[in-house]
Amino acid sequence: MAESELEKKEIFDPDAQFDQLLEKIRSGGHGMDLGRIRAAYEMAKTAHAGQKRMDGTPYVTHCIAAADISVDMGLDEESIIAALLHDVIEDTSLTHEDIARQFGTAVADIVEGVTKLTRVQYTSKEDEQMENLRKMLMAMAKDIRVILIKIADRLHNMRTMNYQTAEKQRAKSLETMEIYAPIAHRLGMQRAKWELEDLSLQYLDPAGYREITRTLEEKMPVLEAFMSSMKEKIQKRMDENGINATVTCRIKHVYSIYRKMYAQKLDITGIFDLCAFRVIVDTIPDCYNVLGIIHDMFKPVPGRFKDYISTPKPNMYQSVHTTVIGSEGIPFEVQIRTWDMHHTAEYGIAAHWKYKMRDGGQALRSGDEDKFAWVRRLLESQQESDAQDFFHNLKIDMFADEVFVFSPKGDVINLPAGATPIDFAYSIHSDVGNHMVGAKVNGRIVTYDYVLQNGDIVEIRTSRSAPGPSRDWLNVAKSGSARTKIKQWYKKERREENIIRGRSMLEDELKHNGLTLDEAMAEEIVAPLLKRLSYGCVDDLLAAIGYGGVTVTRVANRLRDEVRSANAEKRSVLDKVSEAAERRENQASKKEKEGKAVHGILVAGLDNCLVKFSRCCTPVPGDDIIGFITRGQGVSIHRRDCSNYLQRLRDPENEGRWIHVSWAKEITDSYVTTLTITSKDRPALIMDIATVLNALNAKVRNLSSRQTGAGLALTVVTLEVKNAGELKYIMSRLSGVAGVSSVLRNGS
Ligand code: MN
Repeated sequence: MAESELEKKEIFDPDAQFDQLLEKIRSGGHGMDLGRIRAAYEMAKTAHAGQKRMDGTPYVTHCIAAADISVDMGLDEESIIAALLHDVIEDTSLTHEDIARQFGTAVADIVEGVTKLTRVQYTSKEDEQMENLRKMLMAMAKDIRVILIKIADRLHNMRTMNYQTAEKQRAKSLETMEIYAPIAHRLGMQRAKWELEDLSLQYLDPAGYREITRTLEEKMPVLEAFMSSMKEKIQKRMDENGINATVTCRIKHVYSIYRKMYAQKLDITGIFDLCAFRVIVDTIPDCYNVLGIIHDMFKPVPGRFKDYISTPKPNMYQSVHTTVIGSEGIPFEVQIRTWDMHHTAEYGIAAHWKYKMRDGGQALRSGDEDKFAWVRRLLESQQESDAQDFFHNLKIDMFADEVFVFSPKGDVINLPAGATPIDFAYSIHSDVGNHMVGAKVNGRIVTYDYVLQNGDIVEIRTSRSAPGPSRDWLNVAKSGSARTKIKQWYKKERREENIIRGRSMLEDELKHNGLTLDEAMAEEIVAPLLKRLSYGCVDDLLAAIGYGGVTVTRVANRLRDEVRSANAEKRSVLDKVSEAAERRENQASKKEKEGKAVHGILVAGLDNCLVKFSRCCTPVPGDDIIGFITRGQGVSIHRRDCSNYLQRLRDPENEGRWIHVSWAKEITDSYVTTLTITSKDRPALIMDIATVLNALNAKVRNLSSRQTGAGLALTVVTLEVKNAGELKYIMSRLSGVAGVSSVLRNGS
């Protein structure tokens, strides 16, 4: 007893343990700054001084272990430093500033990210809620390294769980099984996923776990003999065929056997393929050669062949799988892959990131983090579906625009980014919103315009005698549904008030147009408008203005037009506008420069007019453009090569409505435009297109692809660009993607 205590002390001497870690990093040869890593260790050791783990070892040993796992995952210097410090904000007096001062904000941000994830309250929920919770964690992480370190942290905690209370063991195991193992899977990190699952199962169903391990132990002599003879046989054939192959074999992990027993209602003696062979080769052609050889050596089991090389799994996994029957009649699985595929299969996204390290210098620059956010969204958008569904469902902007918060009961509520307590209240129920008298976030009272953050716990106080929503809420609410519900309330509850308000709004607006309310409300003026907008009477119209069902400018403009035409003016207002425009266009363009640009557009002769970009041709700065004066919706901007423009140009009815417009000198906005890519329909097409867009840092709003038959695919990309030059470059790069025959802008 005393001796084993002593042994443990030696093993868990933190300094010795850290020296071993440092040696591992040094021999890894990534040129990391060992002095900085040591400084992080010293900081963690001092901060955690006196704290002990449940097993009696100094707390800092956990930090070293988490860093050690991070090293094995291939993470970078900043990650390793952050892993060493991952618990200091949560468990010691050190702050974000303390870490930032010594190690920079990137490290401090990662540690803070891990801390936030640690604080998320977890209770087991239905599947859909669980999916939201996983998304929330991913969204909260912002930097993928936060998730990877959290997985390393959880892995070590699970490995050392035996000293915890039974209750805590169960709770942590459930959380690991429902949250962290699926995230590891999503990120393609099989090795971490398996270990997390097996460790969790050990606590969630100890009897089931023991049954499997005991049986495996009993069978071990037989299995081992079988494995080594098979391995030898396969290796020999590989050598004979001149294929440079590494053959390995392992017993499948416990949880996968457990799941199979459960799904097929078998006991373990009914599960035959307990071991899996792996043949790792240098090239993809070798993979298929090996497959042929294996099928020649053993009888393949029909329906068990899967080619994840030509069609990778959504989490980037690639391999060829087949199940064959050995000479003893025992079926076993063979996985065939290249070394690159092998690394990706073991470490998933972390391996992907290792390549980045190799090509792109040592540390992740801040610009790269955006790329990871993108990769994360891409991964997140893919459910476990086949590749076909993947093509149809791929949406890159998956949850950049979302925020995930908790109700006090622990339900995860999904809202648009920028949402406020008002949006939250109305998302629960319109009654909750309408009777809201206050809001608390994380236990503290907040104002209604507080912007909700991922992971916030939001509590709404309501009262039966609440006055109801205020009009300001319409400006504060972010979600359309909340605004609609608020408007509905006004429409229903406040008709009298709406009419009065609408009347005064209209009066003001008409005044700007040089009209009085009495003039405008004359029967012959207002009647055609009521009819056109389908209002029963003037009060209905005024009420609609009051609650925002129709904009006051729209109504005022129409009334003004009616008054003017009733005044028997010969020329229509539109003619006047376009004539004025022509007049000014002919003047020096000096005037134009003085005009005020709207969305980067200068309209000849008109300041501050409503400008819209036509959806048919989505112009961007640098395009040759023309404006079209629409009826009541301002000027819509078309490209001069837009087919709609060219068609309408010849229409006499539209004569005089085309107006000169130009781009402002200085444009800071981005512009949304749409491209259509025609290509061969082939696997990984979307991935390749997405990779090109990613490499160019293109801001993609939407990306979708569909088959058009005859082996062709049509991919539509909506993206934001600064100008035509950038767009042209993106188009030329997309043209270079294998199989692409054309890249066209919409509308031409
Ligand atoms: Mn920890």
